[in-house]
Amino acid sequence: LESWVLREVNLTVVEMGPRMVPRMLGEKAGGLLQSWCEAKGVTVHTNTQVKAIESTPDELQVVLENGETCPADVVIVSTGVKPRLHYLEGCDIDIDQGIVVDVHMQTNQPDVYAAGDCAQGLDFSTGKTAVHAVQPTATEHGRIAAANMVGNNNLPYKGSLNMNILDTLGLVTCSFGAWEGVAGGDSAEMYNPDNHQYVNLQFKDDVLVGANSVGYHEHLGVLRGLIETQIPLGEWKDRLKDSPVNLVDAYQGVNQAALQNG
Ligand SMILES: Cc1cc2nc3c(=O)[nH]c(=O)nc-3n(C[C@H](O)[C@H](O)[C@H](O)COP(=O)(O)OP(=O)(O)OC[C@H]3O[C@@H](n4cnc5c(N)ncnc54)[C@H](O)[C@@H]3O)c2cc1C
Repeated sequence: LESWVLREVNLTVVEMGPRMVPRMLGEKAGGLLQSWCEAKGVTVHTNTQVKAIESTPDELQVVLENGETCPADVVIVSTGVKPRLHYLEGCDIDIDQGIVVDVHMQTNQPDVYAAGDCAQGLDFSTGKTAVHAVQPTATEHGRIAAANMVGNNNLPYKGSLNMNILDTLGLVTCSFGAWEGVAGGDSAEMYNPDNHQYVNLQFKDDVLVGANSVGYHEHLGVLRGLIETQIPLGEWKDRLKDSPVNLVDAYQGVNQAALQNG
């Protein structure tokens, strides 16, 4: 996207979901990203499916479900990732969205392990298995699988925290863990559309379980740390509800309290 905008091409994004990047951003965050892109001259269609791509001798025609047609010189199709596992056809290896592995990254076959984008491993937030298809998950998968392959298969995996950090034309958007919230949980929000800034924190009791942010990337390590350690926030939860960007103070506060309490 960035390189096309820098080349000042007439650029259109077509998204069938209700907002941009719907798998990592909620409604407000996706809306901010869209208005940011539009302000940079990008045309954005959401809730719109591409029905066909037709070619004429001179150009391509992208036919949208609303009947509109976008003429184009170049069309980039970017509709998600899926492991190619055809080479395992005929093998007795369990496959769902990816190769299903247990907490040791072992498949249903002893001595066969899977890791990375091809593997459907434990998700830290949901306790279920998922294909994350991001580099941090692949790295963690690889470390656990390797340790279990050369050891006694006794290193369990706590699960990967699903996280995505995206820089779109200079606007950084992030999602961590259960950013859509959990049943019975509550949330805190800072929304400043004029500055394209948004922070949404999701809690389960007094534990931070997920977050979405736009235009805020100073303390993402702190955010990740609070979620991954599942440290009880105590009084800091209410302070975060008053000011969701108060993350560093919360991180230091809860960790100091934990040290003092032994
Ligand atoms: C354009 C793009 C941008 C990305 N940006 C980010 C990002 O910003 N942040 C992030 O966290 N992640 C990003 N990712 C995802 C990240 O690259 C992957 O999650 C990560 O590389 C997965 O590591 P892996 O080892 O599982 O697979 P890969 O890195 O894909 O390595 C698998 C290797 O196996 C080889 N291979 C495949 N089939 C066979 C076979 N049958 N026999 C032998 N070899 C085989 C492939 O050629 C490949 O070299 C991006 C991916 C893409 C495509």
